[in-house]
Amino acid sequence: MAQKSKKLIVGNWKMNGTQEFARDLAADLAEKWYVTPSDHQIVICPPFPYLSITLNRLFGTEIACGAQDCSIQEKGAYTGEVSAFMLKDIGCNFVIVGHSERRQYHHVTSELVRQKAEIAFKADLIPIICIGETLSDREGQRTLEILEEQLKESMPLSDQDFTIAYEPVWAIGTGKTATSKEVLEVHAFIRSWLQKNRKKAADTPILYGGSVNEQNAKEILSLENVDGVLVGGASLKAESFWQIIQSA
Ligand code: PEP
Repeated sequence: MAQKSKKLIVGNWKMNGTQEFARDLAADLAEKWYVTPSDHQIVICPPFPYLSITLNRLFGTEIACGAQDCSIQEKGAYTGEVSAFMLKDIGCNFVIVGHSERRQYHHVTSELVRQKAEIAFKADLIPIICIGETLSDREGQRTLEILEEQLKESMPLSDQDFTIAYEPVWAIGTGKTATSKEVLEVHAFIRSWLQKNRKKAADTPILYGGSVNEQNAKEILSLENVDGVLVGGASLKAESFWQIIQSA
């Protein structure tokens, strides 16, 4: 299968920064976009309170914004939740669902991830659905089995546009990256699962995430079936993030 020339580069700021930090980082990214624009699709996912500031600063560029999670509910008495429709309302186009930190610390199950993806569709957002094995899964040779289970349970049933992010849990924020061989194996497995189970298999971007930085991005992005990257730590510095984009 031909490699897609346009990659999807997503920055996940997680729970970092202040209002000033978000404003400055978004302004720096906007400036970089004007000086060295990119054909790749770039998405920034700041914390909820800083979405509007980021959207304002990115206005006029083709850098999109996404949230880091959304509720499975549309609206109502769900204190503390944020609706996918609210995210759309303020200008988001993407939402990350099922990040391993949500699965791990907030009991987000694969079934909930699927429901979040479905409501994202209803709100006209593109869900970025995260899956990934833990270190003990990998050491116990259960990586593909676990991923298949997560794919079966977390993928939406409707044939709308979504993105998958393969993020080995042991590689997130640890400085350890999966080897090219490991990434190739898993991404080929995900592609073939999509081919067997979904109509838009070829068009569904599969991202890799886990300690991607300006040094390793070029190699990862050149691998077959890697349609982009989900970047945590290295997306907090405009310079590093832009270098990753430029290596695509
Ligand atoms: C992430 O937040 O999804 C991530 C991959 O983080 P990091 O790049 O810091 O490992």
